[in-house]
Amino acid sequence: MSEGHSLKERVALVTGASRGIGRAAALALAEAGAHVIAVARTVGGLEELDDEIKKIGGSATLVPLDLKDYAGIDRMGAAIFERWGKLDALLGNAGILGVLTPLTHLQPKVWDDLLAVNLTANWRLIRSLDPLLRLSDAGRALFVSSAAAHYNRPFWGGYAITKAALEAMVKTYAAELTGTTVKANLLNPGPTRTGMRAQAMPGEDPMTLPAPEEVASLIVDLLSPECGANGELVHFRKPAPPSS
Ligand code: NDP
Repeated sequence: MSEGHSLKERVALVTGASRGIGRAAALALAEAGAHVIAVARTVGGLEELDDEIKKIGGSATLVPLDLKDYAGIDRMGAAIFERWGKLDALLGNAGILGVLTPLTHLQPKVWDDLLAVNLTANWRLIRSLDPLLRLSDAGRALFVSSAAAHYNRPFWGGYAITKAALEAMVKTYAAELTGTTVKANLLNPGPTRTGMRAQAMPGEDPMTLPAPEEVASLIVDLLSPECGANGELVHFRKPAPPSS
C-alpha cells in the first residue's frame, strides 16, 4: 500500500503507460504530484491517460514511441535533458508476453521481439537515462519483472528468459550505483487484472485478481525519494480482506 509519498516537482517516466499496470502507475504518480512522461505506441491510450491526469489536476507529456526504436529512446533522453535537466523516476514497465509455446516452436520473430521489448529496450533506457537519474537528488529506477523468471515452466520460456535476464541486468546496474544517490529495483506484481494476464490465462475470472491500481500504489512508494532499497526484487501481495 502506498505510504502517501509526495512526488511534487518530480519528473517520472513510465513505459507502457497506455494500459494495464503502466497506465495505473502513471495516474498514481501524477496523483502524487509528479509530472509524468508517458511512453507507449497507442496514441489513443496515451490521450485517455492524459485526460484522466488532467482531471485530477496533474500534468503529463505524451511520448508515442515503439521501444524497439532504440535511437528514439536516445532522442527522448536528449529531449528530457533539454526540458528538465534531470529525471527523478523511471518505471520500465512495458512488456510483451509473446507466444506460450515450447521453445522449439517459438518463431524467431517472436523471440526477437520478446528480447527487444522486455530486455534490450530496458537496457537502452538505462543507458540513455542513467546520466539524467544521476542529475536528480534521488533518482529512482524500477523495472517490472515476473514470477515466471524463476519457475522455468514449460511453454513460458520466451517470456521467462527475458524476465530472468532483466533481473540480472537490473541487479548488476544496482550494484554499479553504489556510492551514488540513484537506486534501482525490480517489482514482481504477481497476477494482475490486465490484457496481458487475460492473454496468458484466457479461462481465468479476472475479478479474482488485484486491479492494476492496487499495484500502482506500491510502485509510487518504490519510486519515491524515501525508498532506500537498491537491487531488490519486491513482490506485490494483495492485502488480505479485513476479517469480519
Ligand atoms: P499490458 O499488455 O496490459 O500492457 C503492456 C504495455 O506495454 C502497454 O502499455 C503497451 O503499450 C506497452 N508496450 C508493449 N510493447 C511496446 C513497444 N514495442 N513499445 C512501447 N510500448 C510497448 O500488460 P501489463 O500491464 O499486464 O504488464 C505490464 C508489465 O507487468 C509487463 O512488463 C509484464 O511482463 C509485467 N507483469 C504483468 C503481470 C500481470 O499479471 N499482468 C504479472 C507479472 C508481470 P502499446 O501497446 O500502446 O505500445
